[in-house]
Amino acid sequence: MDKRIWLSPPHMSGKEYAYVNEAFAENWVAPVGPHITLFEKELGQYTGMSHVAALSSGTSAIHLALVLANVEKDDIVLCQSLTFVATANPVLYQGAIPVFIDSEPDTWNICPDALETALKYYHRIGKKPKAVIGVHLYGMPCKLDEILYLCDKYDVPFLEDAAEALGSIYNNQQAGSFGKMGIFSFNGNKIVTTSGGGALVSDDSELIKKARFLATQARDEAVHYEHSEIGYNYRMSNISAGIGRGQLEVLDERVRQRRANYTFYHAMLSPFPGISFQPEAAEVISNRWLTAIRIDPNLTGTTSEILRKHLESCNIESRPVWKPMHMQLLFRNAPYFGGSISEQLFAEGLCLPSGSSLSLEEKELIMREIILCITHKQKYPSPE
Ligand SMILES: *Cc1c(COP(=O)(O)O)cnc(C)c1O
Repeated sequence: MDKRIWLSPPHMSGKEYAYVNEAFAENWVAPVGPHITLFEKELGQYTGMSHVAALSSGTSAIHLALVLANVEKDDIVLCQSLTFVATANPVLYQGAIPVFIDSEPDTWNICPDALETALKYYHRIGKKPKAVIGVHLYGMPCKLDEILYLCDKYDVPFLEDAAEALGSIYNNQQAGSFGKMGIFSFNGNKIVTTSGGGALVSDDSELIKKARFLATQARDEAVHYEHSEIGYNYRMSNISAGIGRGQLEVLDERVRQRRANYTFYHAMLSPFPGISFQPEAAEVISNRWLTAIRIDPNLTGTTSEILRKHLESCNIESRPVWKPMHMQLLFRNAPYFGGSISEQLFAEGLCLPSGSSLSLEEKELIMREIILCITHKQKYPSPE
């Protein structure tokens, strides 16, 4: 069988070695060291943010953002439902109550109308939410103008989960730089990686200073380790930061490569009725971290699950769109605002292999199999 085609494997440039070797040579093999400071500086320059804390994961960045937004037990946090569980888990770490919000069909992200209904409801009952968490799914920025307007109107901080969207642009500004705090992930499957890592960014120097303090066990200033609040071990290691510095050098190239995957899939599949993509609005440039398609069973006569299984039988990894959080057993008691858009996107959506190292031959092979599957539907049981 052919070599497996992965959904989104890491893609090293070779530039990472020099930085990692430097860390070894100087014995900075710890969650302190010069690469961390420089990685923060370089990520800040790229995203246009003056303050950056390099952390051990995107999840830890979201957790610290909630701590810094004073999210405590039984507080309300409004959160996009259609996302990876890491967006919502930290709400539970704080003992707070996640309230899930549906998506809109344009960007597949948090729906401004449903968000407004929720904000109005909590305003009416006199329980002000502590934060709104929006996500840029698969790199596609959410409707930031409308969402920021609502957050401003109801005076609730917007936390921007840009874990999937490093390098995406909205109104000539980098994704991740719009919220009171923004978070990035450098997990192995993201557009650039540090093997595992994340970052919290903000315009507010005090918040980021506090994030660094909390991320290193909240040590008060005293040689004997004095503590007055809960801390965490969330700092990025100097080795990881070295990998990240090498990866940042090729980030623009990675965005071009991922966008080229999208252009290829779109050109080949858009002639087929019933197959659609996340459209890019005029003010947006998505990094197209993953190319996701939506398959209408009535128009195509097939389903995303039939296609996924077919690709799997060819050793090609694809993945359903995230299962919305309000459908998860973990969050069975969480309130939900909206309709069934995120549920439909889950039912009909499929993420196609989108690695920046995909070769043309691999893309052509994937396309052959997709077209085979959607045109030879008699080979497969038809959906009800
Ligand atoms: C990957 C991801 C995270 C978490 O990042 P980690 O670095 O894996 O902890 C959070 N939110 C979204 C939307 C993600 O895709």
